[in-house]
Amino acid sequence: VTWVVGVDIGGTNLRVAALVDGARAGAVRRPLAGARTVEAVVELAAAAVAEVTAGAPADAAIPVGVGVAAMLADRRGTIAVAPNLGWRDVAFGPALAARLGDRHRVGVYNDVNAIAFGEFVAGAGRGARDVLTVFVGTGIGGGIVADGALIEGATNCAGEIGHLKIARGPDAARCGCGGRGCVEAYVGGAALLARIHRELAAGACPAVVAAAGGVAAAHPGHVDDAAATEPWADALWTACADDLALALGHAITLLNPDRLVLGGGVLAGAPRLRARTVAALDALVPEAHRRPLTITAAELGDDAGWIGAAHLAARGVSLV
Ligand SMILES: [Zn+2]
Repeated sequence: VTWVVGVDIGGTNLRVAALVDGARAGAVRRPLAGARTVEAVVELAAAAVAEVTAGAPADAAIPVGVGVAAMLADRRGTIAVAPNLGWRDVAFGPALAARLGDRHRVGVYNDVNAIAFGEFVAGAGRGARDVLTVFVGTGIGGGIVADGALIEGATNCAGEIGHLKIARGPDAARCGCGGRGCVEAYVGGAALLARIHRELAAGACPAVVAAAGGVAAAHPGHVDDAAATEPWADALWTACADDLALALGHAITLLNPDRLVLGGGVLAGAPRLRARTVAALDALVPEAHRRPLTITAAELGDDAGWIGAAHLAARGVSLV
């Protein structure tokens, strides 16, 4: 019997669960509110790991995989920046490993990389070999599985599709990463919402404001509903689909995946935007790349992160 634990450190919750011979066993969810220092999160995670492994043999070596919304610094568990937690240059993997003791080795993974691997093993990427996963939520994240393995990169930052540039020069939009012209700065949920509110406040489309019940309540779902009838929404969605497709097209041309898994709140709530983005890919990707490509929606929801982190740890990826 083999045990492995997956941990997902999200914006509001810590989720921990075990896989025993690949089957889920035990699941714990703890709110992160009030527990955001490194020490507090280490304690919270360690207690939850102990809880979900209480039934394991005392001498079993149990790897622990952790997915976290962060830019990583290396393959040894160092977090460069975790905006949700306010962390910078934190050796989280070694700290958790030290707290857990000799039974457990720990792997730390970017959240979307973990999600991508979870979807590859157990979700929308099942049966494929080369999978590109892209989530459009508050930001835009990605994960690359090539020939069945996660591509981590030299500093564990591979897959950061949100920071592919789609514009250059002094007028290009500023991004949270410090750069300019990143696709996330145009179509990421936070940037998109700001743009929608700014244009609606300037009088762009009273029908959308009325449907939403005010400018501040308007979200991409309202624009999606209006895209078939309102010229402003139609034009905005065409521009956004073209921007997103440009980044996706570059990645597909470079990686030649057989599966593209699309997920995240923005695309899930905006089916017209998703459909236009997929349609726009045809003009941006060579036929040899487009032909083998199947495009699917993410399937595992909130479970993808811990499942993927557990499977990465089980394979020994970047353990400390
Ligand atoms: Zn950026």
